[in-house]
Amino acid sequence: VKRDGGNCFNFYSLESTLMWTRDRLELEKELRAAITNHELQVLFQPIVHAETHHIARMEALVRWPHSARGFLSPSEFIPLAENVGLIDQLGELVLRTSCLASYKLLKLGYSVNVSVNVSPRQLLNKNFLQTILNALHDSGLPPRLLILEITESAIVNDMERVGNILTKIRELDILIALDDFGTGYSSLTLLRELPIDIIKIDKSFVRTLDQNQNDLTIVQAIIGLGINLGLLVVAEGVETARQARILLQHHCYYQQGYYFSRPIPYQALLELINKKR
Ligand code: C2E
Ligand code: MG
Ligand code: MG
Ligand code: MG
Repeated sequence: VKRDGGNCFNFYSLESTLMWTRDRLELEKELRAAITNHELQVLFQPIVHAETHHIARMEALVRWPHSARGFLSPSEFIPLAENVGLIDQLGELVLRTSCLASYKLLKLGYSVNVSVNVSPRQLLNKNFLQTILNALHDSGLPPRLLILEITESAIVNDMERVGNILTKIRELDILIALDDFGTGYSSLTLLRELPIDIIKIDKSFVRTLDQNQNDLTIVQAIIGLGINLGLLVVAEGVETARQARILLQHHCYYQQGYYFSRPIPYQALLELINKKR
């Protein structure tokens, strides 16, 4: 399976290749074991203020170090986890690890919000709110330091239910980010219907914004829209100084991407923060 290539192609590739095969059942068994044995790793990617490179937030990104298949990326096992009912357990693990990481930083004097990706099935689970409350309580993390990232493509069907849940989550003082903004068919509708605090400009726009005038225009419009709606705008997938500078010129201050840092383990992130301050 090809990794780290184009967005759409990869997403279900391993899943569809393995569909209905013994291999798939094997992988499911292994994923179940990996979750139970705490073999999944959570990496953190800094979200920086692009002017100062101050690390303001971090996004939690899960990895599966698989003995035979190597380091598997989430696009290779999140869809599987969703389909076989393991996503709640996986999601809770990531949530707990993330809350703990942010709490540990807070205790060291660093206030770094942690952003956790939530899949729609997880969000719609009736126990989800309680799972969040437990993770916050057990870690000691103040709710205002937690951000939940939802992907627009997947929530369109259940807009009303999603809206109700997000409203309750937000009453807890937790922030909501709309991930991969601009890639779905209904970005604007979601902005109007859902309680959103942050939009994350999808990396597909960021990648070409220094080469393609149309993409730059779209990015400018998204930034303007966000600012005028009182939202925080974050750009993801920033890989070059040039992209960072152009985004900054257009008032997109919060940025995330390989140019600043790849996703790294907690300890490495702590060292990075220590070095910077
Ligand atoms: P996402 O939430 O949009 O996360 C951003 C993805 O872009 C991550 O891929 C990150 O490693 C990658 N990235 C960051 N900077 C750059 C850059 O400069 N250039 C490029 N080309 N890529 C960059 P990753 O870690 O493979 O995750 C893929 C997707 O899997 C995530 O997209 C998210 O939707 C999902 N995911 C990751 N962790 C979790 C999780 O714990 N739970 C759930 N439900 N989904 C997750
Ligand atoms: Mg995300
Ligand atoms: Mg994204
Ligand atoms: Mg994505």
